[in-house]
Amino acid sequence: MIGVGLIGGSFAIDIKKKYPEVVIHGISRKEATLKKALELNIIDKKATLEDLINADLVIVSIPVDATVKLLPTILDKISDHTLVVDAGSTKEAICKAVEHHPKRRNFLACHPIAGTEKSGPSAAIAGLYVGKTNIICEVEKTTFKLQEKALQLFTDIGMRIRYMDPVSHDKHIAYVSHLSHISAFMLGKTVINKEKNERDIFDMAGSGFASTVRLAKSSPAMWTPIFKQNKENVVETLEEYINNLQHFKELMQQDNFSEIFNEMENTNYIKQILNGIN
Ligand code: NAP
Repeated sequence: MIGVGLIGGSFAIDIKKKYPEVVIHGISRKEATLKKALELNIIDKKATLEDLINADLVIVSIPVDATVKLLPTILDKISDHTLVVDAGSTKEAICKAVEHHPKRRNFLACHPIAGTEKSGPSAAIAGLYVGKTNIICEVEKTTFKLQEKALQLFTDIGMRIRYMDPVSHDKHIAYVSHLSHISAFMLGKTVINKEKNERDIFDMAGSGFASTVRLAKSSPAMWTPIFKQNKENVVETLEEYINNLQHFKELMQQDNFSEIFNEMENTNYIKQILNGIN
């Protein structure tokens, strides 16, 4: 496991449960992170990049900028039969980083659509991936035998598979994931700024506020490189979102509450779309 935080650590827990004979080696930047992962029994042993030659499977779950930088080196160091999968929330830059690598066929580009707002080894949980979708990009560029190995693993830990090209992945995920995080961060900021003057505001915060702003607890170290890599798509979603907010504000200023009712009623359709997710 390269990266033993929420995503890598949760993979490690479920893989260990499914295949108890497996020995999981962890690699991270900080010694303290590996120590924590060992204490929590997420990994069996510490390792370094020099140990990759002995790995059957390498799961890369580090921030997407670090993935782009490190992935070519990882492919340099593995054996011919090693499968490398990543978990990055962006896909175009990661796929591009290794498109001409001689070991490109050992790599499978993945994005597990699962997670929480927590980070680090202590955020890792069992069963995170059960019933969740794993988006796989450029599957045809991975050796068939290694594709099969990966599919078996993902199915064994309860995941569904969806195939997509990296460009479409980044475009769609900007709407359903990246925009939601920006929206939560800026909602949190708006309320924090107000709270500086009105200290009682958090006493009045109900479950609606807590659930809407939950994603604002997410790690900036993970999200800044995601926004950087998906800048164009994210800016496009922000423009559409800001237009909608602006329109809502104008309706309020115009006392057009029948149209405000309609806006909300039309958006209630989200219940049908998300039926079964929450
Ligand atoms: P996380 O809990 O913060 O874990 C990431 C770990 O990566 C950190 O513990 C950090 O350990 C390590 N790391 C950072 N830079 C590194 C480097 N250059 N080399 C080696 N290790 C490094 O983050 P996460 O939520 O697991 O996210 C991991 C990946 O999964 C990201 O690419 C993210 O886009 C993707 N993802 C996240 C979610 C989500 O909801 N969180 C969902 C799907 C996919 P140190 O303490 O040692 O620096």
